[in-house]
Amino acid sequence: MATVEYNRIGKSFGAVNIMRDVSFRIEEHQFVVLLGPSGCGKTTLLRMTAGLETVSEGDLMIGGKRVNDVHPRDRDIAMVFQNYALYPTMKVYDNIAFSLEVAKVQTDEIKRRVEAAAEVLNLTPYLQRYPKELSGGQRQRVAMGRAMVREPSVFLFDEPLSNLDAKLRAHMRTEIRQLHNRLKTTTIYVTHDQIEAMTMADKIVVMRAGKIEQIGSPDEVYDTPASKYVADFIGSAAINFMPGTVVTGEGQPAVDTPNGRIRVLPGAAVKPGQKVICGIRPTDAVVSDDGPIRTRALLVERMGHDVQLCTAAPAGQFLAIVDRSRPFAEGVEVRFDAAPEKVHVFDAETEMRL
Ligand code: ATP
Repeated sequence: MATVEYNRIGKSFGAVNIMRDVSFRIEEHQFVVLLGPSGCGKTTLLRMTAGLETVSEGDLMIGGKRVNDVHPRDRDIAMVFQNYALYPTMKVYDNIAFSLEVAKVQTDEIKRRVEAAAEVLNLTPYLQRYPKELSGGQRQRVAMGRAMVREPSVFLFDEPLSNLDAKLRAHMRTEIRQLHNRLKTTTIYVTHDQIEAMTMADKIVVMRAGKIEQIGSPDEVYDTPASKYVADFIGSAAINFMPGTVVTGEGQPAVDTPNGRIRVLPGAAVKPGQKVICGIRPTDAVVSDDGPIRTRALLVERMGHDVQLCTAAPAGQFLAIVDRSRPFAEGVEVRFDAAPEKVHVFDAETEMRL
């Protein structure tokens, strides 16, 4: 097991700089997810960690040792790729054993490690099959088996579930996390899927255009997003934003928005007259007969236990997830409120949390 430390890492491809000043530390046993939209640099950061891409600036440390110039083979890491990269002409056993054979590990030891990995990954019945005779989820497990038998200090995963259907993805998420709970190998996992990040990570690193936007536990990035960008990226249903101006009335700060006067926390670093953006998650919008946010129901989408209500509000579309016990007809007026502690306030200019 090892720590991984990024110390002011920068990356350029030729004259084009795509990453600068990335610094953070991953503790032993931690499961860290690099999260961000396509092109934000998460794969490049992972590939630099693996040694598949050079580091342009800064120090990359694995297990306390600077590895910028260390060959991938000597970094004691194992990477699982999005396309699994299995050898189609080799049986599952040989796919898993391959790297150990190349490393000239003794045959008995190879057999022990492959069988142990197959046992953990429920692949024992499939060891004599070819990859094409396996399901997507089984292939994914073979790719993990190949990484596991090397007993690395760090696992790197590059969007390993993106080729699977939604149900299998949910299942493999749980499997990978359970595997981590057992092996406790330091893990760095790249995805653009915020649900994967929320469900698997000990710590999420939210990236934006080659920089870190926020680092925190899943609860921290959800409950206290550092910026409008993070608030928008995290959460299954899109957060509602509304512009406004801070006012102080009756001791409690509030924000005047096109959607009415929204109460905010006294603790928020807001000043009267300040231009801000308020964010309210659909799950935090509460139906209330005298609520300030007056909307008209446009679409009622049943989601099983809950109902997603898409409404028209003065500031634009407003989404709410509400209990299904109260039926709403399309076209009716629905008023919403939100508890002040659930209203996220961002500076209108910097878009950073206040
Ligand atoms: P995705 O989820 O689409 O893989 P990502 O967040 O992993 O996105 P990267 O693949 O790391 O993003 O790419 C980050 C930026 O670096 C992009 O702007 C990309 O165009 C650029 N880039 C990546 N690889 C190269 C390369 N070999 N040469 C030049 N530019 C590159």
